[in-house]
Order: sequence, then structure tokens, then C-alpha cells
Amino acid sequence: MNRKYRKTVIAGNWKMNKTPSETKEFMAQFKTIMPKGRWCDVALCVPAVCIPAAVRAMRETRVGIGAENVNANPSGAYTGEVAANMLVDAGCKYVIIGHSERRAMGETDADVNAKVLAALEAGLIPIMCCGESLEQRESGITEEWVAMQIKLGLAGVSEEKIRKVVIAYEPIWAIGTGRTATPEQAQEVCENIRAVIRKLYSSKNARAISILYGGSMNEKNAYELLAQPDIDGGLIGGASLVPEKFVQIIEAANQPTV
Ligand code: PEP
Repeated sequence: MNRKYRKTVIAGNWKMNKTPSETKEFMAQFKTIMPKGRWCDVALCVPAVCIPAAVRAMRETRVGIGAENVNANPSGAYTGEVAANMLVDAGCKYVIIGHSERRAMGETDADVNAKVLAALEAGLIPIMCCGESLEQRESGITEEWVAMQIKLGLAGVSEEKIRKVVIAYEPIWAIGTGRTATPEQAQEVCENIRAVIRKLYSSKNARAISILYGGSMNEKNAYELLAQPDIDGGLIGGASLVPEKFVQIIEAANQPTV
């Protein structure tokens, strides 16, 4: 992390877990143990039906609520989909885009790009995910693969808007597996992502953008991962479902930085 130049963001991704009633219970518990004072930015991205309960519960706090997906179109005949302006109106601040679980359902880099543009247009903070499979890592193409995902995902994002984007590096082999990337492995890719942003935009923008790590981050390994200079936070699945664990990760993000 480097709090001098960019925001630290700890974001939860609940995936398809918790009902609206369970959301209410989680938030009530979370609020009682949430760190007080000025900490990092905290986001909780929840299933669409849980957004109203989450927004209501967190209204007086500095926790931002987010969605886990968005449709790139402003409105129309897209049964079952949710548009960016609907998320804004519902009180969302963030939206996860291009999670590997959605890419596995057929989402392409072009879809991710259209969603990032739509989210920015509506005023949402996109948390754009990227990351390689185990096969890609073992064949030594991680750097190129992730660079390509970043370039395609950010196509058409202007100089003014790039700083609003949060990038999450999530190696697919580390998501939900309990197998975390080592701090060095995660740092190496996050540093490369920043270099790609530098080439696409500028040094200033590269220095200002928040790059998160995701993949079995938990209360035990968070401190070491977050101590890396180019890891500006975490996107957390499993451990964000338990208030105590999520709070400990937020606390790990409050360590001194370079
Ligand atoms: C995720 O869903 O983005 C994720 C990183 O999950 P987990 O923390 O459970 O690996």
C-alpha cells in the first residue's frame, strides 16, 4: 500500500451468499465491531436483492455498498438484468466487473469494457477484475495475459476517469481455493499492472490508481499481502461473510506504509 498517493480499499464480494434478512443481521453485527475513526475505504458488494437492506443498514457509516455485476445497457429488453443507473438509485457506490466467475459464464473482455464504461458514466466505481488461470501461470504468460485484460477492459476510459477505476488482480487458482498467491507473486503482478497503466495513461495516473489483490485473502495473510508496495487493498470473498474476519482484514489495512 501507499496511502500517500492512493486509496486503500478493502472490498467484500459476497457472491451468491446471504438473504436480505441475513444481510440485515450481518450489518448489525458488523456495525458493532467496525473500526472507528479514519481507516481505509470499505466496500461490501452483495447480491442484487440484498442491496436495499445493506444500503439501509450502512446509511450513517462510511461503508460503501456495491453490486456484483451490471448490464452495460442503460435500459430496455434485457430480462433479469440491472442497469448502472438503477444501482446508483438504489444507493450503490461500487460494482464488481469481470469477476472470473462471471467470465467463466461467458463474459468477454469486450463485455467487461462496456460495463466499465457504463459504470463510470453512471458515477459508480468499477472494481475491474483480472487474473490468470493456473495453466496460464504455469506456461509463463501471466504478465501478457493480465496486461491484455487491462488494456481491453479499459479501452476508451478517459484520462479524467481512470482514477475512478479500482483494479482487482485475482489469480483464478487462488479464488475460493484456500491457496493464496504469495505476497511476492501478488506484488509482481500488481506492479506490472501499474506499469501497464503508466504506459496507457501517465505516471501520475499509475501512481494514483488502487490495485487490489483477491484470492483467499483472510485475516491471517492480509497483513503481509497489504504490506506490499503495489497492493492497495483486497477483494475478499469467503472471509467477507464473517464480520469478525472482515474487520480483522480492515485492521490489517491500517498498518504503516512506505
Ligand atoms: C472473490 O470472490 O473475489 C475472492 C477472492 O474469493 P475468496 O476470497 O473466497 O478466494
